[in-house]
Amino acid sequence: MINQRNIAEILPSEDSAPKDIKLTLKVRPFDTDSLTYAQRERAVYHDRSDCIHGQRIKQDGYAVLGTEGRQLCNRCADLNAGLDDFFPGDEGA
Ligand SMILES: [Zn+2]
Repeated sequence: MINQRNIAEILPSEDSAPKDIKLTLKVRPFDTDSLTYAQRERAVYHDRSDCIHGQRIKQDGYAVLGTEGRQLCNRCADLNAGLDDFFPGDEGA
């Protein structure tokens, strides 16, 4: 027989929640076929929720899941590499 106190100790504490925010920024790859965008914007796919280009496509409602053999967008690639060009050239100076 198990009492109430033991059940509470089995439950995971909030401290065990994942803290790596970067993991949650990865999304399933998507691209767009909408002629709303320039050819070079249609030629790439996105896999980051924090990519400003991908965000616009999602907000406009033109995101389509898949990569269709396209290249990863430069912004997504930088974010995946841990780079952030909001602060260009300042690191390590
Ligand atoms: Zn992107």
